[in-house]
Amino acid sequence: MSLALYRKYRPSTFGEVIGQDHVTEPLSNALTSDSIHHAYLFSGPRGCGKTSSARIMARSLNCEKGPTPNPCGECQSCRDLVANGPGSIDVMELDAATHGLVDDARDLRDKAFFAPVQSRYKIYIIDEAHQLGPGAANALLKVVEEPPPHVLFIFATTEPDKLIATIRSRTHHYPFRLVPPAVLATHLEGVCKDEGVKVAKGVIPLVVRASGGSVRDALSVLGQLLAGAGKDGVTYEVATALLGFTDGALLDEAVDALAARDGATLFNTVNRVVESGHDPRRFTQDFLERLRDLIIVGASKDAAAQILHEYPEDQLERMKNQASLIGAATLIRSADIAADGLTQMRGATAPRLILELICARILLPGSDDQGLLARVERLENGIAITAPIAKPLVAEKSEPVVAKEKAAKEVSQPVTNTEVAPVPDKPPVKEPVAVKAATPTPKPSGPVDIAALRKFWPEVIENVKKQRRLTWSLLSASAQVLSVDDKAITIGIVNSGARDSFIRSESDVILRKAFAEVVGLDLKVECIVDPSVNSSTTTPERTVEDPSDEAQLSGAELLAKELGAQVIKKFSNDV
Ligand SMILES: [Zn+2]
Repeated sequence: MSLALYRKYRPSTFGEVIGQDHVTEPLSNALTSDSIHHAYLFSGPRGCGKTSSARIMARSLNCEKGPTPNPCGECQSCRDLVANGPGSIDVMELDAATHGLVDDARDLRDKAFFAPVQSRYKIYIIDEAHQLGPGAANALLKVVEEPPPHVLFIFATTEPDKLIATIRSRTHHYPFRLVPPAVLATHLEGVCKDEGVKVAKGVIPLVVRASGGSVRDALSVLGQLLAGAGKDGVTYEVATALLGFTDGALLDEAVDALAARDGATLFNTVNRVVESGHDPRRFTQDFLERLRDLIIVGASKDAAAQILHEYPEDQLERMKNQASLIGAATLIRSADIAADGLTQMRGATAPRLILELICARILLPGSDDQGLLARVERLENGIAITAPIAKPLVAEKSEPVVAKEKAAKEVSQPVTNTEVAPVPDKPPVKEPVAVKAATPTPKPSGPVDIAALRKFWPEVIENVKKQRRLTWSLLSASAQVLSVDDKAITIGIVNSGARDSFIRSESDVILRKAFAEVVGLDLKVECIVDPSVNSSTTTPERTVEDPSDEAQLSGAELLAKELGAQVIKKFSNDV
């Protein structure tokens, strides 16, 4: 069996220890200047190099040409103490975790006064030192208090505070840290290269995440992946599956759905997460981290690559788009909701249910300050389509030229965020305050624009489907929104038979509820026969992969209807 990676790549000099420069540099300096202390305490999280560094310290101290931070590697001591070497009779490793070390400590106390057999120092490395029992600690204390000049102690522990104070106060304390992701990633890439195994893009960041900054854990995870590598090396799919991470594609899908405020797709993604055997908690955690990263991308723009180096360039580009589509306030609010949900999930018996509630809360415009801000943000993003179209229907004193230009300019960019909401009297772009003041009512009562309402039709239909299939089947292929005013939404249905069924089955109540839930618009629903309804335009398929085209197209078509040929001409020029 091949040597485990974390053993194979164990460092033999301080120069080879990664991510602990704040510790290895002063230690190296102390060795160079021969200012050696008789007791050291190496503390820090597991797997970040404490024990390896203790062995390196012993090797550096006992090298024939030492003490030196660069042991010669040739003398007997160096060869004995090399990583995975046979070890030296003068360097003793004791594990306090095994049995509190009472007998060993007494033995140590008696033998410590004998000179080392063949080296400069007699070195005791005491691992898990916080587990020393009182008996062993007292026995050791005598030696640590008044050590013979040839004796040196290195205590290693994850919990320095639990080490008996009388010992701790006699040590020089060096705190080790978790290794930063970028440093660890570079190290792992080097290992893959040395091992001659091809590793797909995105795999190393997964390993880094799985390790939580512990080199030992990272190498052990990587070892498992390399061992299972096929002729194509380690693929991203195999890595996500093995490490239990959410496939990045699912996260992208969820984020795109959030950007498009596409509830159906978001819930469908949750369904796929569960169906494909992912843990809802894991997904929520990963989703939360993705939201955090999107906040960083949104805030740092082009500098994001330096902060989030785990993402390949194309992914960062995509995230930049997503961040600007969703907006900072919505991202922060969504992250808050996800973090809350994650706390609720601890010990919950139905994590999927909580995940779905998280999605629902994220989609629902909130009533708190952040929710309000998020609504304003979506309004501003969506205003490109809602404002100019609403104008002719609503306001007398609108400024058509400004509105048209604005519309033409905005529509030429992909716009996926729209929300039906009261349109302020004044041009909102000029006075965002007016938008803000107009939004707090949960159910819009002002005039509404038909184009935006039509855009929500597929979602409304989805909602209807969940409520009653009969209503859904009457509407799905043969109805469309004809008009809306402050009293009612009028629906056109293709023939009188369908219209009569609609009325008889009281489907208007169902549809009204759907509009209220999806759009936040609680209005009476009226139904008339409209033979012009064309099934191909009633329920356009909205897909996550390309939410912009459909919206853009219908936006353009509707612009033509409402504003006439002039705008269309300008629009096509701009495009
Ligand atoms: Zn040597």
